[in-house]
Amino acid sequence: MKNIILKIILLLATSLLANSQQEQSASDIKCGFNQTKYFDEVADYSNSHNKLQNQVLSINDSSECSQHFVIPVVFHVFVNNGENIVPLEQVQSGLDVLNRDMNGLNDDYDDVDPYFLNIRSKLNITFALATIDPEGNPTNGITYHPTNSGFGNHIGYDDTIRTYAWDNYKYMNVYIMLDLYGDGVTNQSGIAWYPNTYMSNNNLARIVYNYSYLGNKGSSFASENFQSVFTHEAGHWLNLAHTFQGGCEGDNDMVDDTPSTLVSAGCGPNTFSCGHPANGDNYMDYTDCYSMFTEGQVDRMLTALTTHPARFPLWQIENLKATGTFQYYKPTVPSSQFIVSEDTITEGESISFTDISCGEPNNWKWEFEGGIPASSNEKNPNVLYEIPGIYVASLIASNEEGSSKTTTMEITVKADINSSVSESNEGLDLFVYPNPTSDAVQIRNLQNFNNQFKLYDNLGNIILDGIISRNIPNINLEKLNSGVYFLRVFSSNQEYYTKIIKN
Ligand SMILES: [Zn+2]
Repeated sequence: MKNIILKIILLLATSLLANSQQEQSASDIKCGFNQTKYFDEVADYSNSHNKLQNQVLSINDSSECSQHFVIPVVFHVFVNNGENIVPLEQVQSGLDVLNRDMNGLNDDYDDVDPYFLNIRSKLNITFALATIDPEGNPTNGITYHPTNSGFGNHIGYDDTIRTYAWDNYKYMNVYIMLDLYGDGVTNQSGIAWYPNTYMSNNNLARIVYNYSYLGNKGSSFASENFQSVFTHEAGHWLNLAHTFQGGCEGDNDMVDDTPSTLVSAGCGPNTFSCGHPANGDNYMDYTDCYSMFTEGQVDRMLTALTTHPARFPLWQIENLKATGTFQYYKPTVPSSQFIVSEDTITEGESISFTDISCGEPNNWKWEFEGGIPASSNEKNPNVLYEIPGIYVASLIASNEEGSSKTTTMEITVKADINSSVSESNEGLDLFVYPNPTSDAVQIRNLQNFNNQFKLYDNLGNIILDGIISRNIPNINLEKLNSGVYFLRVFSSNQEYYTKIIKN
């Protein structure tokens, strides 16, 4: 078990680059991903994540996250005036390829470059065609419309796109057309946008995709590898950048375990870029050997799913029921995770604990060492800490399928050096002298049994701890720096608390 701090960092524009495919027309273009229009909205996105940066996420290990995510999907088809070109079986085959790749069920999942074999990873996710539309009527998850083009542009089409969109907080919207940019070019494969609250609020979140490369049925003529370009676009939709973002320099793709690379460095072992092995198998490059995401990329997609306001609502159980996709959901044993408002506070302050466990728990067992209350069954409890110290908070989350492992987080409660209460006495009648002191203090009037003591610095860190009694009445402070310290002496249900000044 490990506690990690997830830092989610702003992603910016990426380049518009093409890649040729030997199996197909040499000019088929992989992805037109570009973020220029939504620059300021990307900033908004950054802000929402800066908040998260300030939160501490307690997590077992994201790879243990047992949550099965179901994403309701609608395809809006603007080809051949909606007639016959992109049938249901083709759309479903496109989702089948996506689901296969995202879940690591592709045949070549175990055949990646051995250098990257141990860091490949996968989600537990199902992209499913909606069976209930926004008005509550039955649907097969596809809407057909008069021929249209240009929805891949960043500007100029927003009002039209909004006209057709289904609620972005309930459905992933995919627009199928031939001419993505309305410029007469018909071999652009796809474009997608990062999670973005402005776009979702305005029903503009989307993947725009060319039916020629969708799945392996109907009118698709994509090679097996090129069908996975749809997986690449869904990667963007889940917050992944290109692995070649920034080239050999710069911020790269904000994922730690994807090596920097130039675009399309190649496939197979012994392919190098930027002076180290290239992960050409990665779905977020432009290559002919798509077969894996890395652990870091899966963590990033999980973070988008579980924390980004533009993605989190889609897979909630009530939304699956509303969109007719609940039948795809596989219940699992939860894995417990939580975040806190702060993990370092001053005595007398409270902490809000927020459950973000995977796997839809409906029962919570919290323990708060040093806190009030000391335990709770609420989903999101508030806990008061009155005594300085370092404490463990823990959570076990459960549902009908079983109980999670225990997840813990360390809470630091600092002493309040400005506190007007310089001494408190709850049952232990003590006298500490001399105070101020330059070397040691003596504890007088100790009852005739051992008492524990802890000495804190003004950051709440424990500097000394041990036992004092009539036989051992001294605490030696000789080696401590000058300053204010806090002494806490306690037995099972009594305690004494005072400031000590070391000269
Ligand atoms: Zn791309």
